[in-house]
Amino acid sequence: MAKKKKEIPLTGITVSKEEDFSAWYTELINKAELADIRYNIKGFVVYREWATITIKIMYAKYEELMEKNGHLPLTMPSLIPESNFLLEAEHVEGFAPEVFWVTEAGSSGKLSERLALRPTSETALYKMYSLWIRSYKDLPFKRYLSCQIWRYEGKMTRPFFRAREFHWIEGHDVFSTMEGALIQVKEDMEVTYQMLQDEFGIPIIFFERPQWDKFPGAISTYAADALMGSGKVLQLPSTHLLGQNFSKPFNVKFIDRDGEEKYGYQTCYGPAISRIYGAMIAYLGDDRGLILPFDLAPIQIIIIPIIYKGKEEIVIKKAKEIYNHLKDKFKVKIDDSDESVGNKFYFWELKGVPIRIEIGPKDIEKGEIILIKRHDDKKSTIKEAELESKIDKIAANYTKEIKEKSLIDFESQVECVYEKDAAIEAINNGKIVCCGFCSIDMDAYQCAELVEKEIGGFVRGKRVDEEKHEFATCLICGKPASCTVYIAKSY
Ligand SMILES: [Zn+2]
Repeated sequence: MAKKKKEIPLTGITVSKEEDFSAWYTELINKAELADIRYNIKGFVVYREWATITIKIMYAKYEELMEKNGHLPLTMPSLIPESNFLLEAEHVEGFAPEVFWVTEAGSSGKLSERLALRPTSETALYKMYSLWIRSYKDLPFKRYLSCQIWRYEGKMTRPFFRAREFHWIEGHDVFSTMEGALIQVKEDMEVTYQMLQDEFGIPIIFFERPQWDKFPGAISTYAADALMGSGKVLQLPSTHLLGQNFSKPFNVKFIDRDGEEKYGYQTCYGPAISRIYGAMIAYLGDDRGLILPFDLAPIQIIIIPIIYKGKEEIVIKKAKEIYNHLKDKFKVKIDDSDESVGNKFYFWELKGVPIRIEIGPKDIEKGEIILIKRHDDKKSTIKEAELESKIDKIAANYTKEIKEKSLIDFESQVECVYEKDAAIEAINNGKIVCCGFCSIDMDAYQCAELVEKEIGGFVRGKRVDEEKHEFATCLICGKPASCTVYIAKSY
């Protein structure tokens, strides 16, 4: 009797996301082969193929939308001379502790001026803007970069979420009026909602950050926070109103219609694609692995031939037929490896492939095909003739369904409180606290420090889309509250 081939079962994710988010995330990254942290510079991570393909699609979607809104692409050098850096005092102070400096080159040794590996590009770009922008006719001037940046991060790094090198887009815009700049801030927020919520399935809320937590050198910062399912929020893209804080030291001037020379009003916007990827897989994934929006999946449809002895040929033939039928429209693959069927199911679930097609000899006899959706595990048996229309329908709705599931969650995580004890309890229960606060200006910094110390969360700021304010007093000092703020733990 022939010995049955022994199945080596793949080991799954062994930790549940709900019980130990951190350990679950680490296993997901390793087992789905998304990143490798064994590269031998601390805080620098290798992105594996499966992650890189998705990140490239995310870039393309973002770039397309930014260009549609009037941005043109630019490519800038990665090094910034220290003299550029020193021009805006608050900016230097904010970034100095995190800058990587290049101080030596080649055999000639020490450089005459230190060069920063860009931690962000304002001080590189605006020097050039001062050469390019001449007249009101050049405005609005909207450009973006898709690039890597480097920051010597002191906090614990985690692949995609936080590392010492990350991948992002920077938008840098100049306007002739403050009003124009404010409209741009709104556009940046809309773009963020469109990308993160609609395309990537991550629920966000925009906050105007308190003054002690704004981008160094900005007038104000508006940042999106996502809830990660562990009671903690993660800061995602932020847009910054710079006003004339940079245009003055960098001489970004224009001749206005009235013939007078004026300084431009600026904004900058920084969606970190690698971090958004991390947020997306962390938020959408489950205990079986990745769940990916349909467009972002490196493979959208996996065909698994269920092979029985003597029926190999007919099953493989049918699998190829279906493959040929779908390949022009979708990213599709046949898994004809010699793994067991169970292991194949398991592996492609881990990878988050949205649709699995199963074809066995009995199905072929009946002219039927079995389809399984990854995100909700729904199985349907369809007639072969309906294949294309059925897959079109799943493809069109898949991301929408993920989004609907994920968006309901957010509001339920918020708890309004009137006393400190209630705030502590809510934060410990993994909630976002909503409460009254004296203000988000620098004079409220002491209250914010107490929030950190006694409540164990951070003041995320004022919700941008919320007009109402109904708290009488500040949660901390008891003085009249000027605004409603949200407090949460963060990554
Ligand atoms: Zn206060």
